[in-house]
Amino acid sequence: MNRKSPMLPFTFKDFQDQFPDDASCLEWLRNYLYPDGIYCKNCARVTKHHRMASRPSYSCDHCGNHVHPTADTIFHKSSTPLTTWFHAIYLMASTRCGISAKQIQRETGVTYKTAWRMFKQIRSMLTNDAPIGGEGKGVEIDEMYYGGKRKNGAGRPMRGDKQKTPVLGMVERSGKVIALAVPDTTAKTLCGSVREFVLPATTVFTDECPAYNTVSEGRRYTHKRIKHSEKVYVVGNVHTNTVEGFWSLIKRGIGGVYHSVSQKYLQSYLDEYSFRYNRRFDTQPMFTSFLNQIEKTQPGETPCAELAQSQIA
Ligand SMILES: [Zn+2]
Repeated sequence: MNRKSPMLPFTFKDFQDQFPDDASCLEWLRNYLYPDGIYCKNCARVTKHHRMASRPSYSCDHCGNHVHPTADTIFHKSSTPLTTWFHAIYLMASTRCGISAKQIQRETGVTYKTAWRMFKQIRSMLTNDAPIGGEGKGVEIDEMYYGGKRKNGAGRPMRGDKQKTPVLGMVERSGKVIALAVPDTTAKTLCGSVREFVLPATTVFTDECPAYNTVSEGRRYTHKRIKHSEKVYVVGNVHTNTVEGFWSLIKRGIGGVYHSVSQKYLQSYLDEYSFRYNRRFDTQPMFTSFLNQIEKTQPGETPCAELAQSQIA
């Protein structure tokens, strides 16, 4: 875990050089979304398109049909300039531990409402849904209770902990993490989630929590357990230190940047953190990784619904 980050730097000057204005952002988006050219529905083929002078769209040279690259992306129908959006993405990608909507407001000069909306939309792209593990791989599994104290090692909820949200962590050693806010810590919930996200034939490491007794059912896992209650933390390669390390990062992050996270937004916070963690050994800049998520906007999220939500928050 002490490997030096190989990630290439991407400075604010690099950002300004590459995205000096809205036109360059739109051009980037066009090339990103249509690397093989724009398909015209009317002409039923890829045709040449030209930039409309007065609008953020492109028009087919043959029939004049318009294409808006921002449609169905996080920028959909937003009145905020693309450069401001890209600046916000740059800011969110450039800090190691994340940045708050308040900081985006300060840096970009937009209103808090706009900053919050961009923050939420950008974060919604940062999902991790590929399963982890597999033959010959080891995955550590553990729970944390967000909002509560947890004794080093095994952490069952204490009395009065009912309001605390359990979080299930699954970390592939030297690999990716998946962190899920879960409704409870029953065997059904925990084992069900593990089977959903951890591939068959993985060696899984858990503590002695009885909820994991049946985790291997139907998945051919090799299940190894550590007895935290006896203050044993490492036996050979049987330990959950990797996932414990991830929990420390999460807790430091919440405390340092957000102070606290409401239960409603805990999962998106976990997703953002996992997204960063899962790219810690990448060479491409985090900004590029963020931009490469743009097509992953959830369809059906209308700007009106987002606005309504941002007003509640
Ligand atoms: Zn056409």
